[in-house]
Amino acid sequence: MTGPAPRRVVGEIPAYVPGARPSSAPAHKLSSNENPYPPLDGVREAVARAAADVNRYPDMFAAPVVEAVAARHGLTPAWVVAGCGSVAVLGHVLEAFCDAGDEVVHAWRSFEAYPIAIALQGAVGVPVPVDDAGRHDLPAMAAAVGPRTRVVLVCTPNNPTGPAVHAGELERFLDAVPRDVLVVLDEAYVEFVRDPDAARGLDVLRERENVVVLRTFSKAYGLAGLRVGYALAHPDVAAAVRTAATPFGVNHLAQVAALASLEAEEALLARVEAVVGERRRVLDGLRAQGWPVPDTEANFVWLPTGRRTVDLAADAAAHGVLVRPFAGEGIRVSIGSPEANDRVLELAATWR
Ligand SMILES: *Cc1c(COP(=O)(O)O)cnc(C)c1O
Repeated sequence: MTGPAPRRVVGEIPAYVPGARPSSAPAHKLSSNENPYPPLDGVREAVARAAADVNRYPDMFAAPVVEAVAARHGLTPAWVVAGCGSVAVLGHVLEAFCDAGDEVVHAWRSFEAYPIAIALQGAVGVPVPVDDAGRHDLPAMAAAVGPRTRVVLVCTPNNPTGPAVHAGELERFLDAVPRDVLVVLDEAYVEFVRDPDAARGLDVLRERENVVVLRTFSKAYGLAGLRVGYALAHPDVAAAVRTAATPFGVNHLAQVAALASLEAEEALLARVEAVVGERRRVLDGLRAQGWPVPDTEANFVWLPTGRRTVDLAADAAAHGVLVRPFAGEGIRVSIGSPEANDRVLELAATWR
């Protein structure tokens, strides 16, 4: 081909594999960690009303959402940057802090969007293996920080394995990392965390200028289809990220839905509680079958299926359950409706 050539790295980036989507037969979609509940009526109505205004640009920096989020966390708006999903916000963090060749340390296996975002930025990923229990090895990650390291990504709870980082180990880690290295705590699943020892980004954010907390409306708040997430960071860091942000990056319907969701927080968090209850049931059920499932503080479980992974995921699909396989490693199964979770337990029993 003699046409324009993209940057070499573009050809080398592994494709993001989206969770399988149902084709025709009714299926339980447990492949993308979505909220199994439909949007609340109030959220739906707010979005329907807002449709009348879509000939106008949205608020450029999603100021109403930023203000509501800041108030919710006891911060000022200068600490908040909203974006088109927290994955986009992560991209803006890397754009603002990484030059070509700079290093980004992250756990692996972890969120598959990380290597893509790092490579697109022209940065170099430094993956540090999670341990046998699917936990971040924070001492090894601290040791992997070198003179070129600009950013460390900590995914807690970790997608796809499930465990959360503990508060004590995070403090030790933050003490060990140089103050000019940004530590991004990706808390996409924080609302599902019940472990009292789990680290909370908000507990370390104020005293540590180099911490960024990422949050999303996609999971607990059930707005995955509208794309809205945000970063919390020291105002100087936040200002840099805002500079890199896509103008008008959070669309008007997403802004309205996020606001309505924050107002309906009690109803939404009751649903989260139901998912947490189902998570306990699924985890206990799988372990009773003998599966060595890691602890999970998120809305999914990890089945270490090894070489059988692709075949078992296909078997699940044939039985109407869509899951997310990671070939040769394991299957991530989102917690769904009680009926869907029953199907998962039945299938897993046949695989044992
Ligand atoms: C789902 C998920 C996100 C959220 O992405 P959005 O772009 O906000 O939908 C971020 N981080 C991790 C680890 C996730 O699993």
